[in-house]
This record gives sequence, structure tokens and C-alpha cells, in this order.
Amino acid sequence: MFEKFRKKSPWILHYNAGSCNGCDIEILASLAPKYDLERFGIINTGNPKQSDILLVTGPVTLKSRERLVELYSQMPEPKVVVAIGVCTCTGGVFRKMYNVKAGVDRYVPVDVYVPGCASSPDQIIDGVVQALAILEEKSKDIEKPKRLFGELTNNSIFTNRREMAKKIKHEKN
Ligand code: SF4
Repeated sequence: MFEKFRKKSPWILHYNAGSCNGCDIEILASLAPKYDLERFGIINTGNPKQSDILLVTGPVTLKSRERLVELYSQMPEPKVVVAIGVCTCTGGVFRKMYNVKAGVDRYVPVDVYVPGCASSPDQIIDGVVQALAILEEKSKDIEKPKRLFGELTNNSIFTNRREMAKKIKHEKN
């Protein structure tokens, strides 16, 4: 029953991982009445424990990556990650700078990529609609314990905070 409600009213968490704010403004525009992303039952929440979809903007800086992984690991399954903007997808012009290694998928598994600089509200809405379909598929998997076990095993490299901390420590050295 609870899964049914989640599919009908998914909540999003928006995390700025070092963005110039261009993509963040577009996300807010897409939530505002003109584009009305909220017509899909979506609410922008600040609590990862109540969120189903993580919207990430900006190149993931060395300072923000640990918080990103922490937020991702606090979100309940099933969850979907949407990378908004070329910076988030690949690192963009900041890739391989002193404070940016690469795109967000280096740290958390990404389900939908929305390129563009900045991504426009209609691109963002397209990405979120794709995310809703993926969330529904993942919810079906959750209902099948065997498949869920397989999925958690595949993603364990991202969800295990100790592993991630070790990886980050290794990169610093
Ligand atoms: S993709 Fe462009 S607008 Fe978006 S955070 Fe990067 S530089 Fe800013």
C-alpha cells in the first residue's frame, strides 16, 4: 500500500554539489506554476529520509562528494538519481580541475542524465518523468525480494559508506 502512495506522490531532494546556481534556478522554475512539475504529485523536500528522487546539480567538488554519498545512503529504497546539467553528468568544463574529478556517477549510481548548460525546465521535466517510470520499475523489484537482493549487491559499492570513505581517503593520498 505504502509503495502505491510513493509512486503516485514521489518526493524529490535537490542537492547542489558545487553548481553555479544556473541549473538550480531552472529546477525552481520547473517547480513554479508556469511549468508546474508539482502536477505529477511531486514535492521538493529537504529530508533525504522522505525522498524518492535525488536531483543533483553542479560538478561534484571534493568537499561536497562525502555529503552527496551520505544523503544518497539516507534515502530509502527504491530511489532514483537524476543528474541535471553537463557539469553533473561529466564534470563539464570543471572536469579534472584541482577540486573536481569527474561526473556524479563516480560517486552514486545515476539513472537519468539531463545535459545542458543550464538545463531548461522542459528538459528537467522530461528527466523527472523518466525518473518516475524508473521509480515505478524499481518499486516492482522491491516487491520481489530475490531481485531486490541482487540489486542491493550490485549497488553495494555505492551504498556502503565505509567503502566510499576508504575510496576517498585513497584518492587523497
Ligand atoms: S551546467 Fe552550466 S548552468 Fe549548470 S551548474 Fe554547470 S555551469 Fe552552471
